[in-house]
Amino acid sequence: MKVLAINAGSSSLKFQMYEMPEEKELISGLFERIGIKDSCYSIKVNGQKIKKEVVLSNHEDAVKYLIEELLNNNIVSSLDEIEAIGHRVVHGGDKYAETVVITDEVLKDIESFYPLAPLHNPANVLGIKAFQKSVPNAVVVGVFDTAFHQTMEEKDFLYGVPYEWYTDYKVRKYGFHGTSHKFLTNRMKEILNKEDYKIITCHLGNGGSISAIRNGKCVDTSMGFTPNAGILMGTRSGDIDFTIIPYVMEQTGKSLDEVINDLNKKSGFLGVCGISSDSRDVEDGMNQNDPRCILTHKMFVKSVVNYIANYYVALGEVDAICFSAGIGENSVVVRKDILESLSALGIEVDEDLNNVRGKEAVITSASSKVPCYVIPTDEEVMIARDAYNLAK
Ligand code: ADP
Repeated sequence: MKVLAINAGSSSLKFQMYEMPEEKELISGLFERIGIKDSCYSIKVNGQKIKKEVVLSNHEDAVKYLIEELLNNNIVSSLDEIEAIGHRVVHGGDKYAETVVITDEVLKDIESFYPLAPLHNPANVLGIKAFQKSVPNAVVVGVFDTAFHQTMEEKDFLYGVPYEWYTDYKVRKYGFHGTSHKFLTNRMKEILNKEDYKIITCHLGNGGSISAIRNGKCVDTSMGFTPNAGILMGTRSGDIDFTIIPYVMEQTGKSLDEVINDLNKKSGFLGVCGISSDSRDVEDGMNQNDPRCILTHKMFVKSVVNYIANYYVALGEVDAICFSAGIGENSVVVRKDILESLSALGIEVDEDLNNVRGKEAVITSASSKVPCYVIPTDEEVMIARDAYNLAK
């Protein structure tokens, strides 16, 4: 069965097509700058990468080119061969704890969550609607970033605010990157090969989150009501004292929107080091003894360590910790410094084993009390698996 995995953003659309259940990737690509000038797309097919500059006025244009590429590259000979399409949907509110077939009712629900994810859910819906028009016969499923975290208990997802904020306005912790944490959980379960297990999964990318998992279920996670909470990130602050916001507004004369924008887009690595949101630039700066890059690294490590230590205690020991996403899979120094800071837990990083990038590996010594791993995440294949399973 040919299955498409789609991740639509407000001005981008990422796709992968798989032959399922073999999970063989047939073609992948990215449409960029949709609705703005200089739009383009790149496609990876048959080991080749092709880039084309085209006018993409809206998501439907992107879908039109995507279909053309599928046909021209003989990936499909007719659109009926696309039997299932899985869409990443950022927010499933507190209603969706798993992937579902998208019906009119589900689409209405996703729209009703717009206030909870004002940038993401409308873009996801644009993607869903564009494909509904062009490929009307495929089974369409929604894979929610929040779904995996729906197993958290009230004591773990509630904030210490008036209870009516929760009952009336849905103010609570939702958690994000759920598809990645679920992928990591499934893989760790295979590696550990046991039913009763406790793990900590660290998705450290441009956005980052950490989850505590017991027997396949999320117990707690570091992101919150929005993806702004938790660890220090590329451009997001992570956890802060909320009273900073009115104070900075008063001091700078900035509006609420401007301060929120600063916390979202100008904080994190970028805000602290002042150079870049990219961890590679921070590492380069550290190697040149730039004090603010060194500081950024230390703050990042501390924020991750705090969550791991917290979850270790909450779970009562753990069977494994794993690192994933751009930084988790690739940054040797970040992993080393995180694990060395966790030596109180009996964790011993092995510097040779840890010298690994982008592939699965154990990175701690045999005597480490907790084995730690690098596990490359694959959110797209998770979307394709769910789409295949529901279509089948
Ligand atoms: P997202 O999907 O959230 O945009 P990614 O998972 O792609 O993020 O992660 C992006 C981050 O991963 C960036 O900070 C980038 O610097 C980092 N990264 C990617 N490759 C490497 C590498 N080889 N060494 C260190 N960091 C890396």
